[in-house]
Amino acid sequence: MIVTRRFVLGRSAALLAAAALPLIPRRARSVTTMTQGELQIDSISDGHLEFPPDFAFAAIPEAERADLLARFGIDPQATVLSPLNVTLLRQGDRVVLFDAGSGPDFMPTAGRLPDALAAVGVAPEEVTDVLFTHGHPDHLWGLLDDFDEPLFPEAALKMGAVEFDYWTDPRTLDTIGEERQSFAVGAMRRLSAVADGIERFEDGAEVMPGITAVMTPGHTPGHMSFAVGTPEQGVFVIGDFVTTQVGFARPDLGTSTDHDPQLASETRAAMLARLADEGWPVIGYHLPDGGIGRVIRDGDAFQFEGEQ
Ligand SMILES: [Zn+2]
Repeated sequence: MIVTRRFVLGRSAALLAAAALPLIPRRARSVTTMTQGELQIDSISDGHLEFPPDFAFAAIPEAERADLLARFGIDPQATVLSPLNVTLLRQGDRVVLFDAGSGPDFMPTAGRLPDALAAVGVAPEEVTDVLFTHGHPDHLWGLLDDFDEPLFPEAALKMGAVEFDYWTDPRTLDTIGEERQSFAVGAMRRLSAVADGIERFEDGAEVMPGITAVMTPGHTPGHMSFAVGTPEQGVFVIGDFVTTQVGFARPDLGTSTDHDPQLASETRAAMLARLADEGWPVIGYHLPDGGIGRVIRDGDAFQFEGEQ
């Protein structure tokens, strides 16, 4: 496996963003590239999310919080920046995105995917497939552009059936909890706009040649990950079943964004064990350094070992 890293400064885009949003610093976008035989896989950035620490660390018992965060050099009082790593896969005539980023309406620090694609020379019309891990805003809302038109007009859209059904069920608005109702409204609006064209798939389906869906529920009811190729010649697209380094060290501790914390914990522990034992290179949507790395066993728990 060959991994390279380069920084692309989208100057005009950065200037535009700086003009519109003076509080946001200009920043270089990182692109991490992995080539595996015929496969080229880029981790490209949709920007980042910002969470207040009280929200981000709510699932960690207070008595353990300071020690656990100190292991990863995390300031328990500081705003948490969570990267958004969109996986771009190119193989032959296929240009595949795993998730569509946040779009213009979620957070001002996110929604950079169109610029990141331009920086690697891919036009939205060239995207042939978008495979969704789940229906949260930072993964789904980039599906539509500023004018509510599909951003990837030529792409086949694919989402797990359980996940699609959850977000398009009118009852979800009443059951999801007040603080996440905007997630339900936003997902419903976007999925309704593309409902006729979206392909729904089941756990274990080969969604494209060499790409198998692996149901990893808990973060959301029908969350899907994707095994691309083999551990020797491929990559495992994690999505959000583990989103922080704390989750590797303590798979039992969920995050505030897990829909079903107990199920999410069971999924996390089982999947980390599988990925470590099978030796997969992985990409995590919210993991550091472009999210590319490996899962290493560490006693009873795990570590994320970045490839950089
Ligand atoms: Zn996410």
